[in-house]
Amino acid sequence: MIYLDHAATTPMRSEILEVMHPYFSERFGNPSSLHSYGLDARAAIERAREQIAQAIGATPPEIVFTSGGTESDNMALRGVLQGGRRGKGHIITSAIEHPAVLETCKSLERLGHEVTYVSVSRDGHINPTEVEEAIRDDTRLISIMHANNEIGSIQPVAAVGAIAASHGIYMHTDAVQSVGKIPVNVNDLNVHMLSISSHKIYGPKGVGCLYVRKGTKLSPLIFGGGHERGLRSGTENVSGIVGFGEAMRLAVNDFADNKRIKRLRDTLIDAVLREIPYTRLNGGKESRLPNNANFSFSYIEGESLVLRLSAKGIAGSTGSACSSKKLEPSHVLLAIGLDPVDAHGSLRLTLGRGTTDADVQRVAEVLPGIVDGLRQMSPLFACQDESHAKRE
Ligand SMILES: *Cc1c(COP(=O)(O)O)cnc(C)c1O
Repeated sequence: MIYLDHAATTPMRSEILEVMHPYFSERFGNPSSLHSYGLDARAAIERAREQIAQAIGATPPEIVFTSGGTESDNMALRGVLQGGRRGKGHIITSAIEHPAVLETCKSLERLGHEVTYVSVSRDGHINPTEVEEAIRDDTRLISIMHANNEIGSIQPVAAVGAIAASHGIYMHTDAVQSVGKIPVNVNDLNVHMLSISSHKIYGPKGVGCLYVRKGTKLSPLIFGGGHERGLRSGTENVSGIVGFGEAMRLAVNDFADNKRIKRLRDTLIDAVLREIPYTRLNGGKESRLPNNANFSFSYIEGESLVLRLSAKGIAGSTGSACSSKKLEPSHVLLAIGLDPVDAHGSLRLTLGRGTTDADVQRVAEVLPGIVDGLRQMSPLFACQDESHAKRE
């Protein structure tokens, strides 16, 4: 199999499994216990907290462990809006956020809060000026993702963070996709809160963190024994946290490999655009994650494409969701201006540490035949010239 779905999750590195292993067995203590078992587990957690803080320019007390990116995003948004006694508030976010942010916003809207969704360019980038113009007296939070999970577009978070700071508004960014691929530093980015997930950086699933800048007023989502400075109660996922810490340490030491991955990704994009007609690259070439390629092939359906690729041993993903409950294609692809037909024919290929030249070559060999085969079956393709002329 050739795995090209690293934006969905990554294979865990064996070094990481090794450091986690003892915390599943002999080092099983509860970090809140006062005996040596407890102290040992506590020390392991604090070591991981230091590794993570160091990797993003934070201090250890600013790292709050969670169950992953989704919980971290919920904690940031709900924690600010539902905290205190300040009543209803306003959030500014973008139209292309991950569902962990967008669905949380929708739920806050149902509670009476208001949300402005700023638009993105054809390349998938927000405009900081549009964010600034959306600021109101009751704006409490701006949440703009660092890099998009579907099309890899990197947002000008530092510029938006500076705007937020000058208006005295909290700034959150979802950095789940950017960590380990581009530099992520909480001070350079001017953010109060930043979400990270371990399983997107070759660590274990079900663990992540929210960076919370010292002095940020945040209320907890989960109440109990007061763990994580009262922000996230519940006995810590010790083995997961240990693995997450190691994953962060390795991720920031691995930036060199991103050059190799970017070169492979560019080769892949060039080959696909050269070999397959009626194809577009979704997202621009500038300010884009080094490992992301996202194409739309007109006249075909993304899910069939992913299934046929899988049958040939290649794992990718699509923004189309025809067979699932909702019929709408990806909100991200619609937001960058694709018509629904092209949005349905999308394919995301995301490369990683294990991707080789041979893998990319193989995809470039196999993909044109699969796309052509699906088009031959497509009623849309039969009238391609007419429909293409109309849409242009
Ligand atoms: C994967 C992802 C999440 C969710 O993280 P989990 O740890 O899987 O909950 C949030 N935001 C982005 C951008 C993601 O890619």
